[in-house]
Amino acid sequence: MKDTVTATLLWGKEAAAEIRAQVKERFDRIAARGIQPGLAIVTVGETPAGNPYVRSKSRAAEELGVRARVERFPGTTTEDALHAKLRELSADRGVHGIILQLPLPSHLPEDRHLEDIAPIKDVDGLHPLNVGRWVHGLPGHRPATPLGVLELLRRHCGDLTGKRVVIIGRSRIVGRPLSVFLSERSPGLNATVTLCHSATRDLKSVAREAEILVVAIGRRRAITSEYVRPGAVVVDVGIHEIPEPPPGGPRFEGDVDMASVRSVASAVTPVPGGVGPMTVAFLVRNLADAVEAQEGAR
Ligand code: NAD
Repeated sequence: MKDTVTATLLWGKEAAAEIRAQVKERFDRIAARGIQPGLAIVTVGETPAGNPYVRSKSRAAEELGVRARVERFPGTTTEDALHAKLRELSADRGVHGIILQLPLPSHLPEDRHLEDIAPIKDVDGLHPLNVGRWVHGLPGHRPATPLGVLELLRRHCGDLTGKRVVIIGRSRIVGRPLSVFLSERSPGLNATVTLCHSATRDLKSVAREAEILVVAIGRRRAITSEYVRPGAVVVDVGIHEIPEPPPGGPRFEGDVDMASVRSVASAVTPVPGGVGPMTVAFLVRNLADAVEAQEGAR
């Protein structure tokens, strides 16, 4: 029956709490050695209201005893100024993790600035050296959002071998790395992956082939039930903040039209509370890896 709610909601909060508890034990051991880890988040052209992602990353790090600082640059910042700050942070022994908040304004070359970050501190896993490592299936920093999606899928779907996965969106931070991780020749992975983007023809029929559909396109409620094969698992990576007057505060919606997709899919990640908490959990896990790599693990 149309519009009947059928899909299970795949909450990320519980899994994220488990991962954060494990990470906390690692940070407690680090603190017991008298080390206070540092995280630097660099933003360029942030709006005066601030960036909710930056706030949640800083807060999560501070909860673990990390000294988190945000380096805010105006939108008019020059390439040289940003280069100098990223090199300075890379050399600072009190800073163990660096995040360059993307996208940058169009006059700044993202590729060059990602290379300004010391690979060992690159907790987003976007320096070409780390990208090369994850493409080859080698250990090293990997982007947190695709790691979080993978963990949610493992927990809900179990073995992904041979599953037909369609990812909509090929960004360097979500879609592309996720396509690499899911297709890795490793136990439990080995999925068959199709990566769709703005030049994909007949997206609806490609998407309808998916047993697992991952949506990361950055357009609110863009994906309706017409894109979903009955019984598919749908992962909504998108986050859109919709201003609402107080006391309600802002609302959040995803790239998926939940009301429409819930009647067709077997499971859907909610926004908020699905992929978002998993991203933060894997980001702090990456930070623990970075601290141990720089200070030694004990
Ligand atoms: P992006 O804007 O960098 O990339 C969007 C991708 O979607 C591009 O590859 C583009 O080709 C593709 N696309 C755009 N329109 C399309 C269309 N009509 N058909 C097919 N493909 C199309 O996006 P991103 O950084 O990957 O972010 C995507 C969404 O995920 C955003 O809403 C962002 O806020 C959110 N996000 C959430 C988290 C989280 O932790 N939940 C993390 C990162 C990003």
